Amino acid sequence: MEKKTPEIDPIEESGETPTARLRIMETTDLHMQILGYDYFSDQLDDSTGLVNLVGIIEGLRSEAGVTSLLCDNGDFIQGNPLADYVASNGANGTTHPMIAAFNTLAYDAVTLGNHEFNYGLDFLRSAVKEAGFPITCANITDITGTPLATPFLILEREMACDDGIRRKLNVGVTGFVPPQITDWDKANLQGQIETTDIVTSANDIIPQMKSAGADIIVALCHSGIGASTHSPRMENAAVPLAAVPGIDVVLTGHTHEFFPGESVMASDAVDPLAGTLHGKPAVMAGFYGNLLGVVDLQLGWRDTGWHICGARSRLQSGVRETTPSPTVQKLTAQVSDAHAATLRHIRQPIAQTKVPIHSYFATIGPDMAQHILACAQRDFIDEALTGLGYDTLPVLAATAPFRVGGRAGPGHYIDIPPGPLTLRDAAAIYPFANTLCAVRRSGRQLRQWLERAASHFATITPGKHDQPLLNPHSAAYNSDTLFGLRYSFDLTQPPRFTATGALSDPGARRVTDLSYQGVPVSDDDHFVVATNSYRTNGGGSFVGADPMDILVTSVETTRDILIDALRRNGPVTGLCAHPAEFTRHRDTSAIFQSAPAAARHLTGNISHIGPGMGGFDRYRYSF
Ligand code: MN
Ligand code: MG
Repeated sequence: MEKKTPEIDPIEESGETPTARLRIMETTDLHMQILGYDYFSDQLDDSTGLVNLVGIIEGLRSEAGVTSLLCDNGDFIQGNPLADYVASNGANGTTHPMIAAFNTLAYDAVTLGNHEFNYGLDFLRSAVKEAGFPITCANITDITGTPLATPFLILEREMACDDGIRRKLNVGVTGFVPPQITDWDKANLQGQIETTDIVTSANDIIPQMKSAGADIIVALCHSGIGASTHSPRMENAAVPLAAVPGIDVVLTGHTHEFFPGESVMASDAVDPLAGTLHGKPAVMAGFYGNLLGVVDLQLGWRDTGWHICGARSRLQSGVRETTPSPTVQKLTAQVSDAHAATLRHIRQPIAQTKVPIHSYFATIGPDMAQHILACAQRDFIDEALTGLGYDTLPVLAATAPFRVGGRAGPGHYIDIPPGPLTLRDAAAIYPFANTLCAVRRSGRQLRQWLERAASHFATITPGKHDQPLLNPHSAAYNSDTLFGLRYSFDLTQPPRFTATGALSDPGARRVTDLSYQGVPVSDDDHFVVATNSYRTNGGGSFVGADPMDILVTSVETTRDILIDALRRNGPVTGLCAHPAEFTRHRDTSAIFQSAPAAARHLTGNISHIGPGMGGFDRYRYSF
């Protein structure tokens, strides 16, 4: 799956200028996916795993005449059941397996992602204590203003120039995290750390790096390729960051996209085929170790110093080695105890289901997995509110699907047959480590919440067949369902919000017939919503809750609440009414993709068409 990009030929300014080659390799958003193993479906998955990138990394490193740097762009410590197992049981006196893997591969520089903070600062500090590589981040300090990690690095490397002379190069490396970590992980970070806007921090740090002798500067930006215009504390700031004078290369991440790649929208500043932001080379190497990002630079030497005369960025996919190399064997051995313990742990049965549970139509039709999660959330909050004086407020539950195909491919769905439910199944239904909140919301606020969720869908034309159903830029995890209410989405109306949550059409209304127990919801009615802490704090560009409206925050994680509910309740038997439906329209249908296996679970409005793109099948929704 190597992405083809047009090669930018090195520009020779003068035949006499000596040149040298620098290669910068990126892994990003590994989420503890050291092995090619899908813990949510409990099977090998060679499309992921740092081990499957080792062959390429070592091959690229061994190329004669090229100096290589290997960097990780953050989100390495959390994100799969192995990560959770190590976080709750410790690494058994050994080095944290992800840090051990980085040590073994001799990473040159690593930055922190937002998920590094999910298990708290103490856990992060103890995990990185064994790091044999430098960690850099320029926009996090503790409350006294002391940087949490080194704000920048100067990596001294010797370059073999084509005139046969070796010359010293100082590579400046700095890192950035979305400033929202203090909102998203408030419970872990409040009163302990502060964050600064990415571009503001860069404007501050780059001149310092220049005076410290950086010849070229690489930004490890755990932030995505979003808007071109800078706004304060923006989450996805890679484009305005690239415009900061002095930055030469931008490694991006966080949004789990592929860059260079056609899926990223082109603009004046973004060239998705050449892989440049403001003309500077950039990459984003997907997630879970499915790709390696590579930036090759041709550097010219003059008496005045180094300059970049040519650049090329590309992505390379991993390959499973038939005979594991010594490095792969070592990486595998380092994690094998934790891996085996994780498998024993996640295979424990916790409950039974009499019906199949799948997520093939999660954003489109009734979804059993979210129904189970919503019931667990509602019951927990109901009990937690007892005696607090909110008895008159109905309790609702907000959920989103997380394992729904998309960029991760057609294997990335929940598919549990009738029989035992295991911890692994609970982890597939709720993969994150955050907690549950009770949030007070008015009818007006619920309508906004649903309008934001409704931006997941394309606008359809009545009387037309086989038009696209989904907004291609929307992520399913932002397609919330509010259990306890009933409502319709009229997709012939334009969305009020963009896929990233910006208000695009203040007059637009897709939500109709919003009711609670048969009674229309008015703007001034009040409810309590059981929702996760990420959403409560404004994650996904939903409106965050005022502290006075957060009535309860759980100590337990949302997943532990789900596991507890599954253990206590009898077997899963069926579905109660689904809250959301689409407004009906005559002679109107739309197309979406799901896994081929979804054809076994068709419902009234959904029919199977046949093969689609990327291993998915096409399905039709009739309005
Ligand atoms: Mn990530
Ligand atoms: Mg991230």
